[in-house]
Amino acid sequence: MTAVLDDWRERSVDDVIAMAKDVLEDPDFPTVARWREAGGKVLGHFQVYFPEELAHAAGLLPVKVHGAAVEGRDAEARFGSYLCSIVKSSLELALSNRLELDLFVSHPICDVARNLAAIWERSVPYPCRILYLPQNANSTYAASYLRDEYARILELIEETAGRRVGDDDLRASIAVFNDNRRLLRRLYEIRRETPWLLPVDDAYALTAVGGRIPREEHNALLASVLPRIAARVVKPQDRIRVVFEGGFCEQPPIELLRAIGQSCYVVDDDLLIGLRWIVEDVDASGDPLLNLATAYLERSTYSPVQHDLRKPKEKMLLARIRASRADAAIITAAKMCEPGLDEQVAYVHALDDAGIPYFVGEFEEKMTSFDHFQIQLETFVENVLFT
Ligand code: SF4
Repeated sequence: MTAVLDDWRERSVDDVIAMAKDVLEDPDFPTVARWREAGGKVLGHFQVYFPEELAHAAGLLPVKVHGAAVEGRDAEARFGSYLCSIVKSSLELALSNRLELDLFVSHPICDVARNLAAIWERSVPYPCRILYLPQNANSTYAASYLRDEYARILELIEETAGRRVGDDDLRASIAVFNDNRRLLRRLYEIRRETPWLLPVDDAYALTAVGGRIPREEHNALLASVLPRIAARVVKPQDRIRVVFEGGFCEQPPIELLRAIGQSCYVVDDDLLIGLRWIVEDVDASGDPLLNLATAYLERSTYSPVQHDLRKPKEKMLLARIRASRADAAIITAAKMCEPGLDEQVAYVHALDDAGIPYFVGEFEEKMTSFDHFQIQLETFVENVLFT
């Protein structure tokens, strides 16, 4: 495996977190460039969920494409100004050659994203495809349909990689990603049980960097820092515990998360939920593609862009709040994100009915001023603390 991060093993936890933030905020994707310089190929996939095991099994680096704080100069001409930012900034990364890929896959999660691959493909020399996750997750045939859909995408991956992928390759990759799921569960457990040890912006950086480096490297990094974070000696402060909801697709700037962390302990969230979509280990025996498909449907969390009658979002949010013993919720949506804004209404009604306080806000990946958001949030926090 090619390591793409600077050597971090002798560094302090704070230095490792700072390095992860640098990687995430660099629009030139230095870790991906290093992978390519070493001769590796790259599959970029747009939000929300993609079975990265398929790319990993073929030796490709799966990279989570979720925009960047770049001016969408060329991309602005290809998407309407009334649409969310992430599709434009993601496309801009490709048009400006900041992010060089060998294959791009997106999903029809919304009216905007469903056009992304077709528009992307007009300007790049590599294939761009749509992975059609089941529209109806409740159908008897959803798992077998999705298994075949994964097989279709795997053929394309094999063409790109120039090699066949066997079931044993997939099983080995599932094992690597099971380790990653376990480590991310541990990271969220630390936040839930001792949130003063790991502020939300630091937790986010440690999670998100996994979308830009080989998963074995992410596993080694998390295995090294998580025990050291758990052993930190930090005095808890008098802050309310909140769940952050609304970061499933476009991501808020790390600086906004840092501002939230100054007045609240964020004990759970849906940031980059696709990296944690499958909540249990995937069975590595039997048919690995069917196992991945079944796990997507049966052992998974929720987001506004998956439609599953067994997972009503507002009930799932209430369960997340209760499981993390949160006092309140921050209900956000990316600007111009229709699925996110739609869901806000249902969330707010459910929180009203349950008597749980909530703060409603909006963000944009290119935000540079956080004062307004922070002042409003601090007022909300004082209300929760003192009324
Ligand atoms: S941010 Fe919302 S509208 Fe934009 S691509 Fe994602 S789900 Fe679609």
